[in-house]
Amino acid sequence: MFVYADNAATTAVSKNVLDAMVPIYTEVYGNPSSLYSVGQKAKEILEESRERIAKILGAKPREIYFTSGGSEADNQAIVSAARFGEKKGKKHIISTKFEHHAVLHTLQALEKEGFEVTLLDVHENGVVTPEQVADAIREDTALVTIMYANNEIGTVQPIAEIGAICKEKGVLFHTDAVQAVSHIHINVVEQNIDMLSISAHKFHGPKGVGVLYARGGVALTNIINGGAQERGKRAGTENLAGIVGMTVALEDAVEHMDENNAKFEKLQDRLIEGLSKIPYSELNGDRHQRVKSNVNFCFEGIEGESLLLLLDDKGIAVSSGSACTSGSLDPSHVLLAIGRPHEVAHGSLRISLGEDADEEQVDYIIKSVTEVVEYLRSFSPFWGDLTTGKRPHVFLEHKAV
Ligand SMILES: *Cc1c(COP(=O)(O)O)cnc(C)c1O
Repeated sequence: MFVYADNAATTAVSKNVLDAMVPIYTEVYGNPSSLYSVGQKAKEILEESRERIAKILGAKPREIYFTSGGSEADNQAIVSAARFGEKKGKKHIISTKFEHHAVLHTLQALEKEGFEVTLLDVHENGVVTPEQVADAIREDTALVTIMYANNEIGTVQPIAEIGAICKEKGVLFHTDAVQAVSHIHINVVEQNIDMLSISAHKFHGPKGVGVLYARGGVALTNIINGGAQERGKRAGTENLAGIVGMTVALEDAVEHMDENNAKFEKLQDRLIEGLSKIPYSELNGDRHQRVKSNVNFCFEGIEGESLLLLLDDKGIAVSSGSACTSGSLDPSHVLLAIGRPHEVAHGSLRISLGEDADEEQVDYIIKSVTEVVEYLRSFSPFWGDLTTGKRPHVFLEHKAV
């Protein structure tokens, strides 16, 4: 059996999406900036895509900027707010400890330039509260950037409430909604969002294309300089096939969101219940305030990397930590942020189900993980120390879920 359960890392391009993309490559290949018909046809499709994406997000078409993906959108949103704030003497930015590295590393670069960054703690359940944000805002705060749903543990943040606070205090608010847009209905106006990032490859669109939404009136700074594409704010010949693919993928995701979530919820319950039977294991992140396709567990006494390689042998593709950091031996910054000790954070597993998931797949995952954890513990010196009482357990043998 082959089970792809790493949809938070990336997804397969759907047939619908591919079918929409192919004619752009072969027929409407003109440059949208060219004046002859095949260019103008491309321009027309580009602007129609912008309208369709704007409609889904509750935005205006001119507030949609096409980018090369989530990372670029995050970079541009944050740098833009920083440059704008700087001009007014505002050099303080608020974020959280469990953001994606596209956000955290951009903030680190700004710190080197003299910006002050406050990274909010994340509660044990993987959620940041609006009160924490309100308490951290200062006179010189230029931006609050908080992710909508976390890419590792799937926890969903109270974005509308946080946005309302920022609006009241006159502070720009950006959210990385890459993991949220296909699982949660988003309306940038109702949810008080000034800037938002999405990435097509997380919802069955192609890799290398995304969107930065920036509310009218938000001053954007260029990250990519060159031609006048995207109203002068993002140079480079438009990836029209990618943009069309992303548009179809987003429409499909939003159209089927409620039915998918209902299905995922049942499978999530089944997975959590099954994996909780493994002794000294614990779910990471809130049991309910999470994306329905995400399950993330820590198991005491094992290495996440070994776990995922042995699961790969059984045909199961999952991840440990985030794809960007696996390969390094550092434990996940997300798990550390929610208070997991180092030794437990190393033994983590993220399962992110796809729309084709069913009970059979889920039962196969439960059976395989149970076997592999038992096998790895059988020769782990660390586990030995726990069973002989040399080291204390971090988790209870069984925690009620
Ligand atoms: C995947 C991801 C990104 C990066 O998006 P790319 O399109 O791969 O650059 C940013 N933020 C989050 C939360 C993600 O999951």
